[in-house]
Amino acid sequence: MNILEFSEALARKIERTPRGSSLSSEAEFEKAHVVGPAWELSRQHPEVRVFTHPWRRNVRCKPTCDAGASDFALRVEGCPDCWAASKAPTAVAAYGTRSNFDLAALDRRGRTLVVEVKWLTLSSGKGPNSEFQRFIGQCTLAAAVNDVVIGVCGFHGQGRTHFDVHSANVRRTLRKIGVHLVCLPGNGGE
Ligand SMILES: [Zn+2]
Repeated sequence: MNILEFSEALARKIERTPRGSSLSSEAEFEKAHVVGPAWELSRQHPEVRVFTHPWRRNVRCKPTCDAGASDFALRVEGCPDCWAASKAPTAVAAYGTRSNFDLAALDRRGRTLVVEVKWLTLSSGKGPNSEFQRFIGQCTLAAAVNDVVIGVCGFHGQGRTHFDVHSANVRRTLRKIGVHLVCLPGNGGE
């Protein structure tokens, strides 16, 4: 499986992951809806390596990360050394800024996928405009360096549904630059 096929499969898997009713933070959302599905997909397709945030864990691949690269059973999800090493091919340095992303994956040809995750609160008043704009900007920056990008946006709260008049146009426009947008209503979001 190459990185483009992996990204299609991962986007589908994320869309189909049942939504938890007790998620209360972006970190919980990311672990349940992105990290879990990505690691599971890599288990099925170990030729694509997935790199995830350590979240203050300190367990490393044994005996080495190189050994883990060739044998899934030796890889540790959240290995801080793998995470640090994944930044060189995936981070975006531009105009004095540097952007890192929430999850990275690498295929055998060295092609890369990154995932950016955002957890947005809907309310009955004004939408989370600036946070959404920031998220789309992060996805766009990611596409400048990586072969493919998945932007995962979880909505929660009590506001109106996110399928507004221009939603499809936004998805289509982002696809042209290699960004696959996955928007999920969270608990209480619809
Ligand atoms: Zn490692």
